[in-house]
Amino acid sequence: MVSRVIYGRGSFNQLSDIIAPKRLNVKAPFIYLVDDVFKGNAWLTSRISLAYEDQLLFISADQEPTTSQVDDLVEQIILNHKDRPSGIIGIGGGTLLDLAKAVALMLTNKGESKDYQGWDLVKSPAIYHVGIPTISGTGAEVSRTTVLTGPERKLGINSDYTPFDQVILDPELTTGIPKDQWFYTGMDCFIHCVESLNGTYLNAFSQSYGEKAYELCKEIFMDDKGSQEEQQDKLMMASWHGGMSIAYSQVGVAHALSYGLGYLLGTRHGIGNCIVFDNLEEFYPEGVALFKKMKTLHGIQLPQGICSELGDDEFNIMIDVALGLEPLWENAIGKNWKQTITRDKLRSLYERM
Ligand code: NAD
Ligand code: ZN
Repeated sequence: MVSRVIYGRGSFNQLSDIIAPKRLNVKAPFIYLVDDVFKGNAWLTSRISLAYEDQLLFISADQEPTTSQVDDLVEQIILNHKDRPSGIIGIGGGTLLDLAKAVALMLTNKGESKDYQGWDLVKSPAIYHVGIPTISGTGAEVSRTTVLTGPERKLGINSDYTPFDQVILDPELTTGIPKDQWFYTGMDCFIHCVESLNGTYLNAFSQSYGEKAYELCKEIFMDDKGSQEEQQDKLMMASWHGGMSIAYSQVGVAHALSYGLGYLLGTRHGIGNCIVFDNLEEFYPEGVALFKKMKTLHGIQLPQGICSELGDDEFNIMIDVALGLEPLWENAIGKNWKQTITRDKLRSLYERM
Protein backbone atom coordinates (compact mmCIF):
# COMPACT_ATOMS: atom_id res chain seq x y z
CA MET A 1 0.00 0.00 0.00
CA VAL A 2 0.96 3.66 -0.35
CA SER A 3 2.68 4.56 2.91
CA ARG A 4 1.75 8.25 3.07
CA VAL A 5 -1.02 10.29 1.54
CA ILE A 6 -2.31 13.80 1.95
CA TYR A 7 -5.64 14.96 0.57
CA GLY A 8 -7.21 18.35 0.04
CA ARG A 9 -7.73 21.20 -2.37
CA GLY A 10 -4.48 23.16 -2.49
CA SER A 11 -2.44 20.40 -0.83
CA PHE A 12 -0.08 20.46 -3.82
CA ASN A 13 1.40 23.60 -2.19
CA GLN A 14 2.96 21.36 0.45
CA LEU A 15 5.05 19.36 -2.01
CA SER A 16 8.40 21.07 -1.25
CA ASP A 17 7.93 20.73 2.51
CA ILE A 18 6.99 17.08 2.20
CA ILE A 19 9.95 16.01 0.11
CA ALA A 20 12.64 18.23 1.70
CA PRO A 21 13.58 15.69 4.44
CA LYS A 22 14.00 13.04 1.73
CA ARG A 23 16.87 14.84 0.00
CA LEU A 24 19.92 12.59 0.37
CA ASN A 25 22.56 15.21 -0.48
CA VAL A 26 23.02 18.18 -2.81
CA LYS A 27 24.18 15.96 -5.68
CA ALA A 28 21.18 13.63 -5.42
CA PRO A 29 18.41 15.46 -7.25
CA PHE A 30 14.67 15.22 -7.25
CA ILE A 31 13.51 14.41 -10.77
CA TYR A 32 10.04 15.66 -11.70
CA LEU A 33 8.26 13.87 -14.52
CA VAL A 34 5.41 16.18 -15.51
CA ASP A 35 2.73 15.76 -18.19
CA ASP A 36 3.62 18.19 -20.97
CA VAL A 37 0.02 19.41 -21.02
CA PHE A 38 1.26 21.62 -18.13
CA LYS A 39 4.12 23.16 -20.10
CA GLY A 40 3.70 26.93 -19.82
CA ASN A 41 1.13 26.49 -17.06
CA ALA A 42 2.57 28.78 -14.38
CA TRP A 43 -0.30 28.02 -11.98
CA LEU A 44 1.12 24.51 -11.59
CA THR A 45 4.81 24.77 -12.44
CA SER A 46 5.49 27.85 -10.29
CA ARG A 47 4.73 25.67 -7.28
CA ILE A 48 7.53 23.24 -8.12
CA SER A 49 10.72 24.61 -6.62
CA LEU A 50 13.89 23.23 -8.12
CA ALA A 51 17.06 23.27 -6.00
CA TYR A 52 20.64 22.08 -6.59
CA GLU A 53 20.63 19.54 -9.42
CA ASP A 54 16.86 18.99 -9.47
CA GLN A 55 15.39 18.48 -12.90
CA LEU A 56 11.94 18.87 -14.39
CA LEU A 57 11.18 16.79 -17.48
CA PHE A 58 8.00 17.44 -19.44
CA ILE A 59 6.74 14.21 -20.98
CA SER A 60 3.92 13.71 -23.44
CA ALA A 61 1.04 11.45 -22.45
CA ASP A 62 -0.02 11.03 -26.09
CA GLN A 63 1.35 7.52 -26.00
CA GLU A 64 1.10 5.14 -23.09
CA PRO A 65 4.40 4.29 -21.40
CA THR A 66 6.69 1.72 -22.97
CA THR A 67 9.52 -0.32 -21.51
CA SER A 68 12.04 1.29 -23.87
CA GLN A 69 10.90 4.77 -22.84
CA VAL A 70 11.46 3.83 -19.19
CA ASP A 71 14.91 2.39 -19.94
CA ASP A 72 15.87 5.54 -21.89
CA LEU A 73 14.73 7.82 -19.08
CA VAL A 74 16.67 5.83 -16.52
CA GLU A 75 19.81 5.97 -18.67
CA GLN A 76 19.41 9.70 -19.18
CA ILE A 77 19.03 10.28 -15.43
CA ILE A 78 22.07 8.16 -14.61
CA LEU A 79 24.23 9.88 -17.24
CA ASN A 80 23.16 13.42 -16.29
CA HIS A 81 23.61 13.21 -12.54
CA LYS A 82 26.53 12.36 -10.28
CA ASP A 83 24.43 10.61 -7.66
CA ARG A 84 21.40 8.42 -7.73
CA PRO A 85 18.32 10.70 -7.37
CA SER A 86 16.78 11.44 -4.00
CA GLY A 87 13.38 10.85 -5.49
CA ILE A 88 11.12 10.71 -8.54
CA ILE A 89 7.96 12.79 -8.58
CA GLY A 90 5.30 11.97 -11.17
CA ILE A 91 2.69 14.62 -11.95
CA GLY A 92 -0.08 13.76 -14.41
CA GLY A 93 -2.51 10.99 -15.28
CA GLY A 94 -1.97 7.23 -15.26
CA THR A 95 0.67 7.60 -17.97
CA LEU A 96 2.94 9.86 -15.95
CA LEU A 97 2.25 8.08 -12.66
CA ASP A 98 3.20 4.74 -14.20
CA LEU A 99 6.34 6.24 -15.73
CA ALA A 100 7.39 7.63 -12.35
CA LYS A 101 6.86 4.29 -10.64
CA ALA A 102 8.74 2.37 -13.32
CA VAL A 103 11.69 4.80 -13.42
CA ALA A 104 11.97 4.69 -9.62
CA LEU A 105 12.06 0.87 -9.75
CA MET A 106 14.54 0.66 -12.59
CA LEU A 107 17.03 3.01 -10.93
CA THR A 108 17.70 0.30 -8.35
CA ASN A 109 17.09 -2.87 -10.34
CA LYS A 110 19.53 -4.13 -12.96
CA GLY A 111 18.72 -4.84 -16.60
CA GLU A 112 15.75 -3.86 -18.71
CA SER A 113 12.25 -3.05 -17.53
CA LYS A 114 10.71 -5.64 -19.87
CA ASP A 115 12.27 -8.36 -17.71
CA TYR A 116 10.19 -7.24 -14.75
CA GLN A 117 6.78 -7.27 -16.44
CA GLY A 118 4.78 -9.80 -14.50
CA TRP A 119 4.13 -10.53 -10.87
CA ASP A 120 6.70 -10.08 -8.08
CA LEU A 121 9.85 -10.18 -10.21
CA VAL A 122 11.37 -6.99 -8.73
CA LYS A 123 14.32 -7.69 -6.39
CA SER A 124 15.24 -4.35 -4.77
CA PRO A 125 13.15 -1.53 -3.32
CA ALA A 126 12.65 1.46 -5.62
CA ILE A 127 14.00 4.88 -4.80
CA TYR A 128 11.63 7.26 -3.02
CA HIS A 129 8.74 8.11 -5.37
CA VAL A 130 5.83 10.48 -5.15
CA GLY A 131 2.62 10.41 -7.21
CA ILE A 132 0.45 13.45 -7.87
CA PRO A 133 -2.59 12.70 -10.07
CA THR A 134 -4.03 15.42 -12.30
CA ILE A 135 -6.89 13.32 -13.72
CA SER A 136 -8.90 10.76 -11.78
CA GLY A 137 -9.93 7.22 -12.58
CA THR A 138 -7.09 4.80 -13.21
CA GLY A 139 -6.20 4.20 -9.58
CA ALA A 140 -2.55 4.25 -10.69
CA GLU A 141 -1.91 6.54 -7.73
CA VAL A 142 -2.68 3.71 -5.32
CA SER A 143 -2.00 0.47 -7.19
CA ARG A 144 0.93 -1.94 -6.90
CA THR A 145 1.51 -2.01 -10.64
CA THR A 146 2.93 0.12 -13.42
CA VAL A 147 1.49 -0.86 -16.78
CA LEU A 148 4.01 -0.84 -19.62
CA THR A 149 3.91 -1.79 -23.26
CA GLY A 150 6.95 -3.93 -23.96
CA PRO A 151 8.30 -5.73 -27.02
CA GLU A 152 6.22 -8.81 -26.29
CA ARG A 153 3.30 -7.71 -24.20
CA LYS A 154 1.42 -4.98 -22.45
CA LEU A 155 1.70 -5.96 -18.83
CA GLY A 156 2.36 -4.35 -15.48
CA ILE A 157 5.35 -4.56 -13.21
CA ASN A 158 3.38 -5.79 -10.20
CA SER A 159 5.33 -5.79 -6.96
CA ASP A 160 5.36 -4.69 -3.35
CA TYR A 161 7.99 -2.09 -4.30
CA THR A 162 5.85 -0.47 -7.00
CA PRO A 163 3.41 1.62 -4.88
CA PHE A 164 4.25 5.25 -4.23
CA ASP A 165 5.91 6.23 -0.94
CA GLN A 166 3.86 9.40 -0.93
CA VAL A 167 0.75 10.52 -2.78
CA ILE A 168 -0.65 14.03 -2.91
CA LEU A 169 -4.36 14.06 -3.74
CA ASP A 170 -5.30 17.60 -4.72
CA PRO A 171 -8.60 17.61 -6.65
CA GLU A 172 -7.92 21.17 -7.80
CA LEU A 173 -5.28 19.79 -10.16
CA THR A 174 -7.99 17.98 -12.13
CA THR A 175 -9.33 21.21 -13.60
CA GLY A 176 -9.42 21.77 -17.36
CA ILE A 177 -9.63 18.17 -18.55
CA PRO A 178 -11.43 17.74 -21.89
CA LYS A 179 -14.87 16.21 -21.33
CA ASP A 180 -14.29 13.04 -23.36
CA GLN A 181 -11.06 12.30 -21.51
CA TRP A 182 -12.75 12.96 -18.15
CA PHE A 183 -15.39 10.38 -19.10
CA TYR A 184 -12.96 7.73 -20.42
CA THR A 185 -10.62 7.88 -17.44
CA GLY A 186 -13.58 8.09 -15.03
CA MET A 187 -15.08 5.00 -16.64
CA ASP A 188 -11.80 3.17 -16.05
CA CYS A 189 -12.67 3.50 -12.37
CA PHE A 190 -16.27 2.39 -12.91
CA ILE A 191 -15.07 -0.65 -14.87
CA HIS A 192 -12.52 -1.52 -12.16
CA CYS A 193 -15.42 -1.68 -9.70
CA VAL A 194 -17.66 -3.80 -11.94
CA GLU A 195 -14.85 -6.25 -12.68
CA SER A 196 -13.79 -6.48 -9.07
CA LEU A 197 -17.31 -6.80 -7.61
CA ASN A 198 -18.31 -9.45 -10.16
CA GLY A 199 -15.09 -11.44 -9.97
CA THR A 200 -14.41 -14.78 -8.34
CA TYR A 201 -11.46 -13.22 -6.45
CA LEU A 202 -13.81 -10.92 -4.55
CA ASN A 203 -13.33 -10.73 -0.79
CA ALA A 204 -14.61 -8.42 1.94
CA PHE A 205 -11.56 -6.13 1.65
CA SER A 206 -12.03 -5.52 -2.09
CA GLN A 207 -15.78 -5.41 -1.84
CA SER A 208 -15.81 -2.61 0.73
CA TYR A 209 -13.67 -0.38 -1.48
CA GLY A 210 -15.35 -1.46 -4.72
CA GLU A 211 -18.86 -0.72 -3.45
CA LYS A 212 -17.87 2.73 -2.25
CA ALA A 213 -16.23 3.61 -5.56
CA TYR A 214 -19.19 2.21 -7.52
CA GLU A 215 -21.61 4.40 -5.54
CA LEU A 216 -19.43 7.48 -6.04
CA CYS A 217 -19.27 6.82 -9.79
CA LYS A 218 -23.07 6.58 -9.93
CA GLU A 219 -23.39 9.90 -8.09
CA ILE A 220 -20.89 11.59 -10.39
CA PHE A 221 -21.97 10.20 -13.74
CA MET A 222 -25.72 9.66 -13.20
CA ASP A 223 -26.83 12.48 -10.89
CA ASP A 224 -24.49 15.15 -12.22
CA LYS A 225 -25.92 17.63 -9.69
CA GLY A 226 -23.02 18.66 -7.46
CA SER A 227 -20.69 21.60 -8.11
CA GLN A 228 -17.63 21.04 -10.23
CA GLU A 229 -15.53 21.03 -7.07
CA GLU A 230 -17.67 18.34 -5.46
CA GLN A 231 -17.51 16.24 -8.60
CA GLN A 232 -13.70 16.53 -8.71
CA ASP A 233 -13.40 15.64 -5.03
CA LYS A 234 -15.66 12.60 -5.41
CA LEU A 235 -13.98 11.28 -8.55
CA MET A 236 -10.56 11.53 -6.94
CA MET A 237 -11.77 9.42 -4.02
CA ALA A 238 -13.61 7.01 -6.35
CA SER A 239 -10.38 6.46 -8.25
CA TRP A 240 -8.53 5.74 -5.01
CA HIS A 241 -11.16 3.29 -3.76
CA GLY A 242 -11.48 1.60 -7.15
CA GLY A 243 -7.72 1.14 -7.20
CA MET A 244 -7.77 -0.26 -3.67
CA SER A 245 -10.52 -2.66 -4.68
CA ILE A 246 -8.54 -4.22 -7.53
CA ALA A 247 -5.30 -4.18 -5.54
CA TYR A 248 -6.70 -7.04 -3.48
CA SER A 249 -8.69 -8.73 -6.27
CA GLN A 250 -8.26 -8.37 -10.03
CA VAL A 251 -9.72 -6.75 -13.11
CA GLY A 252 -11.54 -8.84 -15.69
CA VAL A 253 -12.79 -9.26 -19.26
CA ALA A 254 -12.79 -5.59 -20.27
CA HIS A 255 -9.18 -5.06 -19.23
CA ALA A 256 -7.97 -8.29 -20.83
CA LEU A 257 -9.48 -7.36 -24.20
CA SER A 258 -8.52 -3.70 -23.87
CA TYR A 259 -4.86 -4.63 -23.37
CA GLY A 260 -5.04 -6.45 -26.73
CA LEU A 261 -6.40 -3.32 -28.44
CA GLY A 262 -3.76 -1.18 -26.72
CA TYR A 263 -0.93 -3.48 -27.75
CA LEU A 264 -1.88 -3.81 -31.41
CA LEU A 265 -3.63 -0.55 -32.23
CA GLY A 266 -2.25 1.77 -29.56
CA THR A 267 -5.81 2.38 -28.31
CA ARG A 268 -5.41 4.17 -25.01
CA HIS A 269 -6.54 2.59 -21.79
CA GLY A 270 -9.58 4.71 -20.91
CA ILE A 271 -11.21 4.82 -24.33
CA GLY A 272 -10.17 1.22 -25.05
CA ASN A 273 -11.92 -0.01 -21.92
CA CYS A 274 -15.05 1.91 -22.93
CA ILE A 275 -15.06 0.43 -26.45
CA VAL A 276 -14.69 -3.08 -25.04
CA PHE A 277 -17.06 -2.69 -22.11
CA ASP A 278 -19.82 -1.42 -24.42
CA ASN A 279 -19.85 -4.96 -25.90
CA LEU A 280 -19.75 -7.03 -22.72
CA GLU A 281 -23.45 -7.37 -21.76
CA GLU A 282 -23.14 -11.15 -21.50
CA PHE A 283 -20.44 -10.85 -18.82
CA TYR A 284 -21.57 -7.77 -16.90
CA PRO A 285 -25.27 -7.13 -17.74
CA GLU A 286 -26.01 -4.63 -14.99
CA GLY A 287 -22.75 -2.69 -15.28
CA VAL A 288 -22.96 -2.43 -19.06
CA ALA A 289 -26.58 -1.23 -18.95
CA LEU A 290 -25.59 1.53 -16.53
CA PHE A 291 -22.53 2.38 -18.63
CA LYS A 292 -24.72 2.86 -21.71
CA LYS A 293 -26.98 5.22 -19.76
CA MET A 294 -24.01 7.28 -18.58
CA LYS A 295 -22.62 7.40 -22.11
CA THR A 296 -25.90 8.77 -23.43
CA LEU A 297 -26.31 11.22 -20.57
CA HIS A 298 -22.90 12.76 -21.31
CA GLY A 299 -23.24 12.66 -25.10
CA ILE A 300 -20.20 10.43 -25.58
CA GLN A 301 -19.76 8.89 -29.05
CA LEU A 302 -17.41 5.92 -29.03
CA PRO A 303 -15.46 5.01 -32.19
CA GLN A 304 -17.06 2.11 -34.07
CA GLY A 305 -15.55 -0.56 -36.29
CA ILE A 306 -11.98 -0.18 -35.08
CA CYS A 307 -11.34 -3.88 -35.82
CA SER A 308 -13.23 -4.02 -39.12
CA GLU A 309 -10.11 -3.83 -41.32
CA LEU A 310 -7.98 -6.28 -39.36
CA GLY A 311 -6.68 -9.58 -40.77
CA ASP A 312 -6.19 -12.97 -39.11
CA ASP A 313 -2.63 -12.23 -37.95
CA GLU A 314 -3.70 -9.04 -36.28
CA PHE A 315 -6.66 -10.64 -34.51
CA ASN A 316 -4.31 -13.38 -33.35
CA ILE A 317 -1.89 -10.87 -31.84
CA MET A 318 -4.69 -9.28 -29.80
CA ILE A 319 -6.04 -12.67 -28.78
CA ASP A 320 -2.57 -13.78 -27.63
CA VAL A 321 -2.17 -10.66 -25.50
CA ALA A 322 -5.64 -11.05 -23.98
CA LEU A 323 -5.32 -14.78 -23.27
CA GLY A 324 -1.91 -14.24 -21.69
CA LEU A 325 -3.58 -12.37 -18.84
CA GLU A 326 -4.60 -15.53 -17.03
CA PRO A 327 -5.37 -14.05 -13.59
CA LEU A 328 -7.85 -11.65 -15.20
CA TRP A 329 -9.77 -14.50 -16.82
CA GLU A 330 -9.64 -16.64 -13.73
CA ASN A 331 -11.05 -13.74 -11.74
CA ALA A 332 -13.76 -13.02 -14.31
CA ILE A 333 -14.90 -16.54 -15.17
CA GLY A 334 -13.44 -18.91 -12.57
CA LYS A 335 -10.87 -21.69 -12.54
CA ASN A 336 -12.35 -23.40 -15.59
CA TRP A 337 -12.26 -20.30 -17.76
CA LYS A 338 -10.45 -22.08 -20.59
CA GLN A 339 -13.58 -24.08 -21.34
CA THR A 340 -15.51 -21.03 -22.50
CA ILE A 341 -12.87 -18.42 -23.30
CA THR A 342 -11.66 -19.81 -26.61
CA ARG A 343 -9.81 -18.05 -29.42
CA ASP A 344 -13.02 -18.09 -31.48
CA LYS A 345 -14.92 -16.47 -28.65
CA LEU A 346 -12.40 -13.64 -28.36
CA ARG A 347 -12.31 -13.19 -32.12
CA SER A 348 -16.08 -12.77 -32.22
CA LEU A 349 -15.92 -10.20 -29.41
CA TYR A 350 -13.16 -8.22 -31.12
CA GLU A 351 -15.09 -8.32 -34.42
CA ARG A 352 -17.96 -6.44 -32.77
CA MET A 353 -15.77 -3.50 -31.76
P1 NAD B 1 -3.30 9.81 -19.34
O1 NAD B 1 -2.30 9.97 -18.26
O2 NAD B 1 -2.89 9.03 -20.53
O3 NAD B 1 -3.80 11.24 -19.77
C1 NAD B 1 -4.89 11.36 -20.68
C2 NAD B 1 -4.92 12.75 -21.27
O4 NAD B 1 -5.34 13.68 -20.29
C3 NAD B 1 -3.56 13.21 -21.75
O5 NAD B 1 -3.73 13.89 -22.97
C4 NAD B 1 -3.11 14.16 -20.65
O6 NAD B 1 -2.21 15.13 -21.14
C5 NAD B 1 -4.42 14.77 -20.24
N1 NAD B 1 -4.46 15.36 -18.90
C6 NAD B 1 -4.08 14.81 -17.71
N2 NAD B 1 -4.33 15.66 -16.70
C7 NAD B 1 -4.87 16.77 -17.25
C8 NAD B 1 -5.36 18.01 -16.71
N3 NAD B 1 -5.38 18.25 -15.40
N4 NAD B 1 -5.84 18.92 -17.60
C9 NAD B 1 -5.87 18.68 -18.92
N5 NAD B 1 -5.45 17.53 -19.48
C10 NAD B 1 -4.96 16.59 -18.65
O7 NAD B 1 -4.68 9.21 -18.83
P2 NAD B 1 -5.15 8.17 -17.76
O8 NAD B 1 -6.41 7.65 -18.29
O9 NAD B 1 -5.11 8.77 -16.42
O10 NAD B 1 -4.02 7.06 -17.77
C11 NAD B 1 -3.96 6.02 -18.70
C12 NAD B 1 -2.75 5.20 -18.38
O11 NAD B 1 -2.86 4.67 -17.07
C13 NAD B 1 -2.53 4.03 -19.29
O12 NAD B 1 -1.17 3.98 -19.67
C14 NAD B 1 -2.89 2.83 -18.45
O13 NAD B 1 -2.20 1.65 -18.81
C15 NAD B 1 -2.50 3.30 -17.09
N6 NAD B 1 -3.19 2.63 -15.99
C16 NAD B 1 -2.46 2.26 -14.93
C17 NAD B 1 -3.03 1.65 -13.86
C18 NAD B 1 -2.19 1.22 -12.71
O14 NAD B 1 -2.71 0.68 -11.76
N7 NAD B 1 -0.92 1.47 -12.72
C19 NAD B 1 -4.40 1.43 -13.82
C20 NAD B 1 -5.16 1.83 -14.91
C21 NAD B 1 -4.55 2.46 -15.99
ZN1 ZN C 1 -7.96 0.22 -15.78
